[in-house]
Amino acid sequence: MYYNFIRTPAIVKTGAGILGDIDNLLHVSHLYFSDKVLITQEFLYSVYKDSLERNVFCKVVFVKGGCVDEASVIMEQCKEIDGLLIAFGGGSVLDIVKYCADKMDKPYINIPSALSNDAVYSCVARLNQNGKKKSFGVQPPIGLIVDFDVIRQSPKTLIYAGVADLVSNLSALQDWKLAYHVNHEPINEMAFMLSRQSVVPLFKYTEQDLFSDEFLFELTNGLIVSGLSMIVCGTTRVTSGAEHLISHAIDEYFPERSSIHGLQVGWAHEIINRKYREHGNAEYDISEYFKRMGLDKVIEEHVKWHENEFEQLVPYAIRVRKRFTILNLL
Ligand SMILES: [Zn+2]
Repeated sequence: MYYNFIRTPAIVKTGAGILGDIDNLLHVSHLYFSDKVLITQEFLYSVYKDSLERNVFCKVVFVKGGCVDEASVIMEQCKEIDGLLIAFGGGSVLDIVKYCADKMDKPYINIPSALSNDAVYSCVARLNQNGKKKSFGVQPPIGLIVDFDVIRQSPKTLIYAGVADLVSNLSALQDWKLAYHVNHEPINEMAFMLSRQSVVPLFKYTEQDLFSDEFLFELTNGLIVSGLSMIVCGTTRVTSGAEHLISHAIDEYFPERSSIHGLQVGWAHEIINRKYREHGNAEYDISEYFKRMGLDKVIEEHVKWHENEFEQLVPYAIRVRKRFTILNLL
């Protein structure tokens, strides 16, 4: 085989007030399905009922989300339907739908209600199994529809988490380079470039832009391109480095002190860059960017760890996953 065959989304639509226009957006993208099942949370459905009901669904399935145990119930309700699954909700809803769609080999699209992490477009579903978060490899969605008016209703903290998770690609890429220099770990330059380019446009904005269509457009498409970089790479190496290991260590070993994924990742990223990487902030000044966006305050408010506890987390982080990062050199 001379080429990598990768699946790219058949539809990506962003804009304000497009939740009521799903049928038409699929139609103009030449995506025709006899039946469509909407899978969402009851609360979200009640909030966006008017817009959602402007589309035709053969069934609406309500889920809690986040837990693998729920999958059998969802699959039972969808198994007779030969059509498209539409996931509308936060990461926990998208992840359970991804998992079910993959198991049933059905196409699905994601309509995120928040942009809190790169789960919006990825080949990994993070779900609880026996009380612990686990990663499951899945097929990515055939597309994404993002209504900025819905995202603007989500907590500001979640948008910040999405920004920090995406920006952390820069840290992951530095770890990949380090692994190349120290261990000759090969680098897929195509994946590397996609991951990098998904982040760069965010650096021209400030805190005032957070809810603007322009910024949300960059964030959405950045998360999609970041997801594509993982698909091209075939692993999460391209978007997940030392900062993710620290965050996973907190979730796994100190769950009572854990917080939102993207914010924990951002906390670790900023410390690693400022304290441990030689020339860490040379190209993109992460500390300055976090201040400019107001991310520093949000992280301080939500992440209940002090900088001087960082080194205590390192031995746990190294154990989480066998991946060479700067933590191995501390
Ligand atoms: Zn992440």
